[in-house]
Amino acid sequence: MKISEHFTLEEFSFSETAARLGLDNTPNLIVITNLGFVSALMERIRTLLGDRPIVVRSGYRSIAVNQAVGGVATSAHCRGLACDFVCPTFGTPAEVAQAILKSGIEYDQLILEYGWVHVGLAQAGLLSRREALTKRSPWAAYESGIRA
Ligand SMILES: [Zn+2]
Repeated sequence: MKISEHFTLEEFSFSETAARLGLDNTPNLIVITNLGFVSALMERIRTLLGDRPIVVRSGYRSIAVNQAVGGVATSAHCRGLACDFVCPTFGTPAEVAQAILKSGIEYDQLILEYGWVHVGLAQAGLLSRREALTKRSPWAAYESGIRA
């Protein structure tokens, strides 16, 4: 099901881990609504990156799936408010994160991770922190800013 011009609900709720481990990763109505906001954000990012295709690595993750992938318990992914992605035809994750950082696009968190970019939105009613971070490995602490 298409939820914006270039994104489908399926690509935001597919999880290889869920499929492999037989875990449920079906989004509820609140999550689907939030994924609508995320897809609107991803459309803005897609436009910023010159209308190049975005590969979604992870969107919604149920609590069980999030635990299985070692995600933090408070992850915005569990509310359907985050997206991990790459845009290889634009550049490296560092280049993508820098472009978003310099743009006027509003986000709660922008994280340059080891191999992809994470963007998250604030819950309805909460202010966006506009926080930019870098995480160099699964074990590394978060560093402030986008650091290539
Ligand atoms: Zn993420």
